[in-house]
Amino acid sequence: MDNAQREALRAELLKRRVALQQLLVDSADSAEVVELDQSCQGRLSRIDALQGQEMARATRARWERELTRIEGALRRMENDEYGDCFVCEEPIPLRRLQNDPSVTRCVECAEGE
Ligand SMILES: [Zn+2]
Repeated sequence: MDNAQREALRAELLKRRVALQQLLVDSADSAEVVELDQSCQGRLSRIDALQGQEMARATRARWERELTRIEGALRRMENDEYGDCFVCEEPIPLRRLQNDPSVTRCVECAEGE
């Protein structure tokens, strides 16, 4: 991987990080606890609200995990450890990194999980 390729991946990670942080801020309200005793809404809409809240929570948890992976990838770039498989320590093919710059395993090791 040359410098230009690495910088392109870093730019991709930074862009995705900003997008995820924004998504988490924007969705903060939807994951808040639904009041169960709101007299203004019926039973069905309460169930809808709870299901919506559950989905919002699951989505936010996924974004938070991705954000953690991205932070890790950026840290490895700083330490010059970026691009090697966590398991077998072989370089991860560039095309795989370009597809998802936050991956930590080569295809073989990822499949073995
Ligand atoms: Zn591997």
